[in-house]
Amino acid sequence: RIAYVNGAYSSVLTPAIRIEDRGYQFADGVYEVLKVSGGGVRHIDRHLDRLGRSLAALGMRWPMGRGPLTQVVRRTVALNSLRDALVYIQVTRGVAARNHLFDANLKPSLVVTVRSLKLPSARERDEGVKVVTMPDERWTHCHIKSISLLPNSLARQRAADEGAREAWLVDRDGFVTEGSSSNAYIVDEEGRLVTRPLGQEILGGITRSLLLEAAEAEGIEFVERGFTVAEAQAAREAFLTSTSAGVLPVSTVDDRVIANGRPGSITRRLTDRLQRLELASDDG
Ligand code: PLP
Repeated sequence: RIAYVNGAYSSVLTPAIRIEDRGYQFADGVYEVLKVSGGGVRHIDRHLDRLGRSLAALGMRWPMGRGPLTQVVRRTVALNSLRDALVYIQVTRGVAARNHLFDANLKPSLVVTVRSLKLPSARERDEGVKVVTMPDERWTHCHIKSISLLPNSLARQRAADEGAREAWLVDRDGFVTEGSSSNAYIVDEEGRLVTRPLGQEILGGITRSLLLEAAEAEGIEFVERGFTVAEAQAAREAFLTSTSAGVLPVSTVDDRVIANGRPGSITRRLTDRLQRLELASDDG
């Protein structure tokens, strides 16, 4: 596998990161994950828009212009000759002798890697997946796509140890924020799609924004509000979204089966519509 690191393309195995990169020592950086399908990078503009918002929120500079970064992404994808893949873009504040204080003029470090994408299995799509809930122990700026992912990683591991595909994180008031690496949705008793509004408690998923557009196009009513674990367990349908998983039906929440345990019709319609949106977004 070939990676781009600060101006050069080389094997991902080549040592290339400095010990005193602030990403390594302080998790001082942001990232993006993009999907490649059929050799085309999907929704690159939306991802670069979000990268810009993450950088701005932390007072970081772009490592290079959007145009050149787009070219680097495409080149890295091409060098890896993968048709279905995930692109990882990481920008850290730069290299400096370890000190909490930082200089505004550091030169950001840029890494781009590509790896093959393991799509959810047919069984996961047909039967849905298990999620377990746990307290949301992250910080108060979850709208920033920060590389500081230890709470997310620990939650995901705990979910896997309990045989679940994802952890749904719950705030102090008992409302689900999102998954460890996905957004969370239910369909309520009136058949409305429900998902938490954008805010500092969740990452504004690219798939989330596409999904709400798909709902609009399908004439499916949606409401952006929080929902509790009990509401999710009593919901007609539940699902999660992310760039890598797309739309994934949720069949159980903390061992309570959702409806009849099969993916519902709204989940299916949104899955189909999103697929069409993806194919239409051939960014090349
Ligand atoms: N929420 C969190 C915490 C995430 O890490 C992710 C993606 O990894 C998402 C939501 C989904 O975002 P997207 O649809 O942009 O992949």
